[in-house]
Amino acid sequence: AILSDGAQISVEITAVAGAAELFRALTGSAPTGVWSAPGRANLIGEHTDYNDGFVLPFAIQHRTAAAARLRADGRIRVASTFASEPVEVALDDLDALFPATGSGTRTPGDTAPATVPEWAAYPLGIAWALRGLIPAWAAATLPGVDIAIASDVPVGAGLSSSAAIEGAAASALNELWGLGLDPVTLAQAGRRAENEAVGAPTGIMDQMASMLGHADAAVFLDCRSLETRSIPLGFAEAGLEVLVIDTGVKHAHSTGGYGERRASCERGAAALGIAALRDATPADLPRAAELLDEVDFRRVRHVVTEDQRVLDTVAALAADGPRAIGDLLVASHASLRDDFEISIPELDAAVEAALAHGAIGARMTGGGFGGAAIALVDHDAVERVSDAVRRAFADAGFAEPHLFTVTPSDGPRRDV
Ligand code: ADP
Ligand code: MG
Repeated sequence: AILSDGAQISVEITAVAGAAELFRALTGSAPTGVWSAPGRANLIGEHTDYNDGFVLPFAIQHRTAAAARLRADGRIRVASTFASEPVEVALDDLDALFPATGSGTRTPGDTAPATVPEWAAYPLGIAWALRGLIPAWAAATLPGVDIAIASDVPVGAGLSSSAAIEGAAASALNELWGLGLDPVTLAQAGRRAENEAVGAPTGIMDQMASMLGHADAAVFLDCRSLETRSIPLGFAEAGLEVLVIDTGVKHAHSTGGYGERRASCERGAAALGIAALRDATPADLPRAAELLDEVDFRRVRHVVTEDQRVLDTVAALAADGPRAIGDLLVASHASLRDDFEISIPELDAAVEAALAHGAIGARMTGGGFGGAAIALVDHDAVERVSDAVRRAFADAGFAEPHLFTVTPSDGPRRDV
């Protein structure tokens, strides 16, 4: 169902109330507070983040909430409506649970230590990463904490439920532990938790989008310097909606194709003699074609042209407004489908049907191999485009997609 503005408000209340309720069920008492952080949709800039490039995501109204309270015994307990059992460990045992792997990531395919379920490695990994930012003597004195988590962010749909849970847990611990860390540092802690505690080799985009989002704006992020600029989107003013088409096909970041794509990008940068593909421009592509095999070349071409499309999108938004970015979204999808080869038939069908029925632009969003597409659609055309996508899926024999609109929204906050 398409969410009306009224329904979006109830969506936010659901996660916050759900987290508080779970906290009471877990501990028998009320939390000190409830903190929440949003998921994100990526407008454009896919697989550019780990190449030191540019991305343009926005935080969405779907949020994950963490209800939390300190406890005296130096232990951390996490619970989630997502899981049947809470997980509890001593804070002092976190270092043994997630041995530091230096600045790199675990090998793709590695999963979190068998001793905690994967979902628990997100909030426990945040506690571990935050403790790692302060002197050992100070970390040793941190009190324990109970955290209960509930979420409205669809999991595994390319809307970054992972950054939302990291952002919610990081915001709660930052305040309860009195760390006073800034949003960029919290985003970096989220990435470290995801890379090293969970073992998913992802870039910094999701955490930065969640931590630095603003209503009606996208976060333009230079993934090398971590400098951000808030870019007004003006969708509502232009009568536009962002329709998410969740295919329901689950991706799995810790395995397979994602790591291979990263390896291709690293080979490309090495062959070109640059630190990262961010340092190449479209003018370098003929040389890349000579140095690389055909597959690696196409991976490189996607990243290099996608960086340029992000810059062009920022320029088009400023010069001509959101109706001017449709072709850039479509070109991004074609590049992800043909050069990076991370689309799937469901995502291609979603994009084609949306465009054929009046969408201004459409593309797959997120890491690929499943997840969601976004379509930029006139407010009045949302129903028509949605019906067309549903028909296309039915005709192709695909599972029914989940359709809803997302609104560029604010970053983390304390709700209660
Ligand atoms: P995405 O970020 O695209 O939704 P990921 O695979 O990166 O997908 O992250 C999804 C994983 O994050 C889930 O499988 C689960 O382990 C964890 N997660 C997300 N939301 C929650 C939640 N509310 N409670 C517990 N774990 C969660
Ligand atoms: Mg994720």
